[in-house]
Amino acid sequence: MPYTLAHPALIVPLRRWIVLGAAAAGAMTPDFGYYLPLAVVNRVPYPSAAFTHSLLGAVTFDTIVGLVAYIIWRWPVRTELLGSLPTPWSTQTLARTAVVLPSRTPAMRAVLLVVSVMVGAITHVLLDIVTHERAGTPGFIADENVLGLPVSAFLQRGLSIVGLGLLAWWIAREIHDIAPLSGLYPTRRMTLYIGSVIVAALLGAGLFVRDYPPITEGNAVIAVLLGFTAGGAFALVAVSVALVIHHRHRVARAMSQGVRSEPRSRG
Ligand SMILES: [Zn+2]
Repeated sequence: MPYTLAHPALIVPLRRWIVLGAAAAGAMTPDFGYYLPLAVVNRVPYPSAAFTHSLLGAVTFDTIVGLVAYIIWRWPVRTELLGSLPTPWSTQTLARTAVVLPSRTPAMRAVLLVVSVMVGAITHVLLDIVTHERAGTPGFIADENVLGLPVSAFLQRGLSIVGLGLLAWWIAREIHDIAPLSGLYPTRRMTLYIGSVIVAALLGAGLFVRDYPPITEGNAVIAVLLGFTAGGAFALVAVSVALVIHHRHRVARAMSQGVRSEPRSRG
């Protein structure tokens, strides 16, 4: 299992033919179950990692969850997160991530979205099969030990670093294309995002370490990584929703004040 956030690296080369965000969501969904806190796992009948990492799981459950994740990304996260960047980055990143679907009919567009999520989920499942993951069950990894570590561990860590590196390079290049990075200062809303993500990620890591079955050196690292990611993702969505509600309130207040002040401005 390369790290979940590294999986979309496989999608970037396909971006001309598919909806990038939808495929990236699909490329992460097979792992979503790992990020549910124990309190949730105990109450929700979430499918096993074996199923979400099968081809059948990829084209059914993973695709549905991927579509939901993609919708949450499109709105509210994308609009609020990218909108909180200073100009020209906010306008440019919003324009660059706007989806221009080649097909004309709504039905064809829907098909393209679904296929994109599916392609993403399939790349995840295939890569995990190659890197010897069998649904997170270490007992199935029957590979040789090299320098005290199984080959699969090297593959997983290596591919995670390569994938994250490629994504970071690609995103940095896209951002650099907009304007010199020296002008990219944190806005107030950006600071709110960064602060909330850090706090939630730390809380998530603590929660997962507490919840994780017998903590050994190896799975403590995994628990921290899973909790950190789950907390950070939760904060991204929560802050985005809060900002949407805040905007609505402000618009509503401005409108009601406008209505009240109208007679005065006329008189
Ligand atoms: Zn996986």
